[in-house]
Amino acid sequence: MDITTNFAPVSTHLPAHFIRTVVEDDLKTGKHATLQTRFPPEPNGYLHIGHAKSICLNFGLAQDFSGLCNLRFDDTNPSKEETEYAEAIQEDVRWLGFAWPGAVRWASDYFPALYAYAEALISKDLAFVDDLSADEMREYRGTLTEKGRNSPYRERTVADNLDLFRRMRAGEFADGSRTLRLKIDMAAPNINLRDPVIYRIKRAHHIRTGDVWCIYPMYDYTHCISDALEGITHSLCTLEFADHRPLYDWVLDHIDIPCHPQQIEFSRLELLYTITSKRKLLQLVQQGVVAGWDDPRMPTLHGMRRRGYTPAGIREFARRIGISRSENVIDMSVLEGCMREDMEASAPRVMAVIRPLKVVLTNFEHGVTAARSAGFHPQHPEFGERCVPISPDLWIEADDFSEIPPPGWQRLTLGGEVRLRYSYVMRCDAVIKDAAGQVVELRCSLDTATLGQNPVGRKVKGVIHWLSAAHAVAAEFRLYDRLFTVPRPDMDKERDFLAFLNPHSLAVAQGWVEATALQAVPETHYQFERLGYFCADRLDHQPGQRAVFNRAVGLKDVWANVLTKEGA
Ligand code: ATP
Ligand code: MG
Repeated sequence: MDITTNFAPVSTHLPAHFIRTVVEDDLKTGKHATLQTRFPPEPNGYLHIGHAKSICLNFGLAQDFSGLCNLRFDDTNPSKEETEYAEAIQEDVRWLGFAWPGAVRWASDYFPALYAYAEALISKDLAFVDDLSADEMREYRGTLTEKGRNSPYRERTVADNLDLFRRMRAGEFADGSRTLRLKIDMAAPNINLRDPVIYRIKRAHHIRTGDVWCIYPMYDYTHCISDALEGITHSLCTLEFADHRPLYDWVLDHIDIPCHPQQIEFSRLELLYTITSKRKLLQLVQQGVVAGWDDPRMPTLHGMRRRGYTPAGIREFARRIGISRSENVIDMSVLEGCMREDMEASAPRVMAVIRPLKVVLTNFEHGVTAARSAGFHPQHPEFGERCVPISPDLWIEADDFSEIPPPGWQRLTLGGEVRLRYSYVMRCDAVIKDAAGQVVELRCSLDTATLGQNPVGRKVKGVIHWLSAAHAVAAEFRLYDRLFTVPRPDMDKERDFLAFLNPHSLAVAQGWVEATALQAVPETHYQFERLGYFCADRLDHQPGQRAVFNRAVGLKDVWANVLTKEGA
C-alpha cells in the first residue's frame, strides 16, 4: 500500500505520468492532431474527491496540451438520476476552475444513434433478442472457471430479432422480459464478452427524454459509442473498467463509426478516514447522519467547498497524488496539508475567540491606553492593515488560562504574564469564579511600557490572541473534524461503516471575531490566528448581520494540543 504522508513543496508544472506520456507521443507522432478527453459522471449523486482526481486529469491534460475536455453525463439509468445532481456536478466542475467547450453532452442525446447502431448490429447478425430472465441469464453465463452456455434464443433469425427489438422499443413487452444481447462468445475467458446485454426494457421516467423510451442502452455499449461520436482521443477511466476494454473495442470494431478512442485505465483514489462510494454517501444523507450532500464533513466537492477547502488546494492535491495503475491510498493529512499551504499564502489573518473568557483590565485608561494597527498578512503588505482596538473588557480563549498550569505552560496563569498579540503585556492578578467553582472572569493589568516594546528586565514568552469586547462582533464557529474514526471505515467485514462515525465530527461554538469579518462576503477565507483556517459559510453567513464561520482545517503546530482535544 502506498500511503503518502509527506510530499514535495508546491511546484508549478504537472509531474509526468504514463497517460501523459501516451498523449505526448500521440501528438508527437501525429496519431492525433489535438487532444480530446471527457469527464463522464453519472448524475446519480454529488461528485466526491475521487471524481476530482478524474476531473483534474481529464481537464488538466486538455489544458496542458491545448486540447478540449467535454463534460458528458452518463444518463442511461433513469431510475437513479436527478436534475439536482446534474446541476450540482456542473457547478462543481466550474468551481474547480475548469470549462468544457460548448454545451454539456448527454449520453441520452445519442439514444437515437445508439438505437440505430443496435439495429445495424442485429442486421449483421451480431446481436439478438433474448427472452431469458435475469436469473436464467446468470445461470447460463458460467463462472470465472466455467464456460457459459449459449442462450436458447441465440439462433433467432435477423428478421425475427429486428421485429422483436422494434417491438421492445414500441413498448409491447413487460419490463425485464426481454433484452438485446451482443453475439460475441459465451466461452470467452473474459465474462464481459459472454454475449453482454446492451439494451433492457425499463419503464422509468428519464430526466431528459421523459417517457419517450422504454428501452435503455447499457453503460458499456453507450460509453464507447458516445466517446467515438464526440471524437474523443483518449478515454480515461478507472481500473475496474480494464476488463471491459475488450468490449469497448469490440463494439467500435463492429459498427460503422470512423473514430476509435483509446481507453486507458488508472487507479481510483482512496482517501483514508472517509468513503468515496456514492451509494454510501447517499446513505449518510438519507439517514440524516449529515445535514446533506454539502455538509462540510462530506468528501463531496459541495461539502468541501462549504467547509472552506479551496479549488487551488484540491487541484494541488490531485497533482501530488499522481496518476498510475498501482493502489492510490492517500492519507487525509495530504489533502489537509494542501489546504493549509494554499490558505497560508492567500488568507488574511485576523483574531477570533471561540471559547470566550472575560478579562477586565484594571488599569485601562481612556485616552491613554492605545490601540495599534496590524497587517492582514505578514508576507503580503498589499493585503492592507487595520486597527486592533482595545477597551477595558477583553475576550481571551478560555483554554489560554490555567489556574494550575501543566509544566512548560507559556500562556496565562494567576500571577503570570502574556503578550496580547499586537498589544501590551498583561498580567493576571485575580480569578473570579461562580458558585460552581468555574472561572468566569479574570482581573488583569497591562504593563503600559510594553506597547511595541519588550518588557524591561524579564522575558514574556507566551503570546495569545484576544479581542476587545467593545469592538468584537458575535460569531458562530462550526468546528469540523473527520467524519470517521478509523482510516478505512468501509473495509471491516463484520461492522457496517456507520459504526465508525466520529461522534465529535461537529462542534458548534458561539464566540467573537474582529468586526471586519462580519462584513466579509460568503466564502471569504481567513486565518483566525492560532485557531486555523476558516471560511464564511456559503449559506448562513450574512454580511453585516450574522457571522458564521466554518473551520476548514486547523493549523499544523501548537494548536493540536490546545482546542482539538475537545473536538474543537
Ligand atoms: P457509480 O458508477 O457507481 O455511480 P462512480 O464513482 O464510478 O460511481 P461516475 O459518475 O461513473 O461514478 O464517475 C465519473 C468518473 O469519475 C468515472 O470516469 C470514474 O472512473 C471517475 N471516478 C469515480 N470515482 C473515482 C475515484 N475514487 N478516483 C478516481 N476517479 C474516479
Ligand atoms: Mg461509473
